[in-house]
Amino acid sequence: MKKIIFATHNEGKMDEIRQILEDLDVELLSLKDAGIDLDIEENGDTFEENAIIKAKAIMELTGQVVLADDSGLEVDYLDKAPGIYSARFLGEDTPYSIKNQHIIDKLSNVKGHERSARFVCVIACACPGGELIIERATIEGLIAEKISGTHGFGYDPIFYVPEFGCTMADMSFEQKNLISHRGQALRAMKDTIINIISKDGTREE
Ligand code: IMP
Repeated sequence: MKKIIFATHNEGKMDEIRQILEDLDVELLSLKDAGIDLDIEENGDTFEENAIIKAKAIMELTGQVVLADDSGLEVDYLDKAPGIYSARFLGEDTPYSIKNQHIIDKLSNVKGHERSARFVCVIACACPGGELIIERATIEGLIAEKISGTHGFGYDPIFYVPEFGCTMADMSFEQKNLISHRGQALRAMKDTIINIISKDGTREE
């Protein structure tokens, strides 16, 4: 089966990516699966720049087709923070229970639509021939008034989706993947991946 590397160390993301792309005839390898122990400095100013930095760095290292995503939470009341700094917000190793409560506390006097927020996901696909494909998707929601739910990862327990009347962490895995920023961006990338695996540039074993 053809193999494509997905340049992430985040197992929560990787589980979602595998489910969203499960109908493709391709084996998706995380950096760990591919035996790559490299921390790439995400020093771009946008989600797009960071996704491209990650995808290109691993493509250049391996000579393989590489997918990478850069994603995060934008809270409008906080001038779109944490944004591209979502993973590093309050410290990379700080538990999300603390990060999430911190955001809720910052919005303690904020009501209704002023609690608007979105998850953003940009996927970059870097090919050894130099081709670079980018997809961006978002999902709009509100910062919940309290932490709720045990599914998902990261900021899911404070991301309330009005159409569903619950947070992203209250949803099942499948339901989240159907509507999420990552689900939308990866489905938009599917035809590109199908095209690429039908050509050169992927490893087959
Ligand atoms: P990245 O690995 O640099 O793209 O950082 C992504 C960070 O954004 C994650 O570590 C989470 O903090 C946050 N994030 C991205 N997508 C999601 C999601 O689907 N749910 C919850 N948090 C997310």
